[in-house]
Formats: sequence, structure tokens, C-alpha cells
Amino acid sequence: MNVIKLISLSIFIVSCSSIKENIVVFSEPPAIDSVQTVSVRTGKVVFKRFSFNRDDGVYVLQCGEKKHRFQVKNKTAHIYLPASYFSKAKKDSCTFVERGESEKALTLNINSFDYPKERLNVPKSKVFYSKKDLARIIREKEIKKQIYKTSSDVFLFEKPFKVPLKSYITSHYGNQRLFNDKKKSQHLGNDLRARTGTPIPSANRGRVVYTGNLFFSGNVVVIDHGMDIFSMYGHLSKILVTEGSVVNQGDIVGLAGATGRVSGPHLHWGVRINGSWIDGFSLIEASKKHLGDES
Ligand SMILES: [Zn+2]
Repeated sequence: MNVIKLISLSIFIVSCSSIKENIVVFSEPPAIDSVQTVSVRTGKVVFKRFSFNRDDGVYVLQCGEKKHRFQVKNKTAHIYLPASYFSKAKKDSCTFVERGESEKALTLNINSFDYPKERLNVPKSKVFYSKKDLARIIREKEIKKQIYKTSSDVFLFEKPFKVPLKSYITSHYGNQRLFNDKKKSQHLGNDLRARTGTPIPSANRGRVVYTGNLFFSGNVVVIDHGMDIFSMYGHLSKILVTEGSVVNQGDIVGLAGATGRVSGPHLHWGVRINGSWIDGFSLIEASKKHLGDES
């Protein structure tokens, strides 16, 4: 009897250990085979492609505090990595988290970029706001939060980005502005010279997610290009698209103008990636790495 008990006990132990082994067998193999280093400067974006041993879909990479979505197609990951204008120079370890286990995917070096300073003199009312304007600015802060909250979970574009106008840049991205020697701000877009009425083409294919009038930007069109990439067109005299419509690269979204806080007619071209305003010209370069240079 004792012998039978012993045998059944040992069978039980053996079967337990095989269950344990089964768990090990079914655990996911590593997704990343080599860890690479990527460098980006503050206010810029870079594109990176790396092999990724998982099915097609959207995954998340955690770099420090920030989560970046990326797309996997045919075992290849495609990711845009922006660095906020306000970020400190640092080295972030980027990990891919799956079923509670994290795997190191990349090292992201954020290097600071020294943007030039410029002095501007504007009417007092444009720097120090009335109570009514201040209330509007606060209200619009909330609207802006909503505009950029959701983005399509696929890239909506198939070609590299293009600058909307090939004209003189009257104010570059990143300029540190000092208004009337008192108030500081940063110019987080590129200003392109344009007469009132100049047709403004979309920098790439995407979906129009906002059209409206805002205190600083005037008449604005915002386009979602998918995977947390947005472009915005400010100070328009006329908006020619409607929210929800899909625009192709080069489609006219509006006419240039001088609405909002401006000193003259021009296009303010903004690019926002994963919550940060980024230099649009760095998105053009990054997207060429992604989709090939057609120019
Ligand atoms: Zn501007």
C-alpha cells in the first residue's frame, strides 16, 4: 500500500514539474535581439527602425517617464522619438514591457540644443492680457488638450512630410523670445512668409481633427497624421476644410492671413509629436528615413 502511495505521489510530483516546464515553454521569446543607442536633440524628432519579434500591431516603448507608441510590420518596429523643447539633457533607458516583464530596447540620448534669442516689441495688450482675454486663454488651454488627446493608431501617411510653403522662414522654431524686454516665451513652430490669401497645402495625408479660432493662433486647422503626430496651420484668413475630413498631401486646408497674435500675415506651421511641439523640419528628415526620400 505504502509503495503505491509513494508511486502515485511521485507521479503527482512529476506531473507538477511538467506543468511548471510548460509555463516556461509558452513564455514569449525576446522581442528585441540587439539594444541600440538613438540620439535626439531637444525640440527635434528622430525615426528609428529595429527588428522586433512580434506580430504586426501597435506596441509601447517606455523611455524614462514617457510612453511612445510604435508600429510593427513584418517583424520590424517603426518609431518616431521626439524630445521636448523643455527636456533636460539626459540618457533614458527605453524598455518594452510585456506581461509584466520588461526588455531593454533602446538607449535614448537627449542632447540639448541651444536655440537663438530674439527681442520683439509688440503692443502692450498682446503681452499683458485683459481679464476677458485671460479667461479665453485658460478656456482654450482645455480645448487644445482635447484636440491632441487622441490620434489614429496607424500612420495615416505613406510619403515623407513636406514643408507646406517653400518660402522664407521669418521666425525659426525654438527662438527664445523676449517681448518688450519683459515677457519670455518660446516659438514652438516655424513661421513661413505668406501674403494674405496664399493657399496653404497640408504637409501630409491625415484627418482634420480641429478647425476654429484661438486667441494666439487665430484661425487654425489641425491634422492628425496618426501615431501621435499632428500638424497645425495658424493665423489663416480662411479655413477650407471641415473636421473629420481626410486630406491628402498638398490639399489646400486654408488661406494664409494675420488672425490671432501676429505682427503681419504669415503661416505658423506647428508640429506636435506625442505631446511635444517639435521642429517640423526635423519631422521632414525623420519621415524621409521612414518612407524614403522622394524629393
Ligand atoms: Zn509662429
